[in-house]
Amino acid sequence: MSEIKSKKGTRSKKQNADDAPAEVSKGKLYIISAPSGTGKTTVIKKVMEMKDNIFFSVSVTTRAMRPGEVNGVHYHFISDEEYDRLVADDALLEHAEFAGNRYGTPAAPIMEHTAKGETALLDIDLQGFRQVKEKMPEAVSIFIVPPSLEELERRLRGRGTDTEEKIQQRLKIAETELKSVSEYDHVVVNDIVERAAAEILEIINK
Ligand code: 5GP
Repeated sequence: MSEIKSKKGTRSKKQNADDAPAEVSKGKLYIISAPSGTGKTTVIKKVMEMKDNIFFSVSVTTRAMRPGEVNGVHYHFISDEEYDRLVADDALLEHAEFAGNRYGTPAAPIMEHTAKGETALLDIDLQGFRQVKEKMPEAVSIFIVPPSLEELERRLRGRGTDTEEKIQQRLKIAETELKSVSEYDHVVVNDIVERAAAEILEIINK
C-alpha cells in the first residue's frame, strides 16, 4: 500500500474528494465503465497488450479477493479502516460504494503518469465516472455493454464467483447503469473481445 500516497500536506487548506480541483495534465484520461460481468477486465487487458504506454489505474477496494486476483495488480485489497484513512487524507480521485463494497481511485499515480504524457485508463463504475467527469471534463468516457442482458446473466453465472444474492444485486445495478449510457462519449458492445478492444484502441488513437 506504500504506493498509494496521500496528498495531505501538499495543500494549505483541507479539501475532500468532492471539492478537490482538477489538476492540469498532459496525458489523456479515459474512463471505462461497464456493467459487472460484461467482460470489461478482459477487454482492457487486450487493449493494454495492443498498445504501449498506457497506465492502468489500480483501484483500492474493500471487497474480498476473487480466485485468480492478485493484490496490487487487479486491486489493492484494503480494510475498511485503511479505506476510511485514504478518504480522510483526500488520497482518492473518486470513490463509491458498489454492491456492498467500497472502491476508489488513488489520485497520485494518475497525476504522475498523465503529467508524463502517458494515457491513463480508469475502470470505474457510473458513480465514479460522474465524479471524475465533474473534476476533469476533458476525460474521455467509454461504456462497454454486453450483447444482451441475458448474455450478461449467463456470464455472471459462468464466472462462478458470486452468490445468487450478489448476482441478482449486480444484475439490478446493471439495468440501472445501462439506462445511463447516453452520459458517456462512446458506447462499445463487447460481442467479441478482440473486436471490442480494437474499437477502444481506435478511440484512444484518435
Ligand atoms: P468488481 O467487484 O466486479 O471488480 O467491480 C465492481 C464495479 O466496481 C465495476 O463496475 C468496476 O468498474 C467498479 N470499480 C472498480 N474500481 C473502482 C473504483 O476505483 N471506483 C469506482 N467508482 N468504481 C470502481
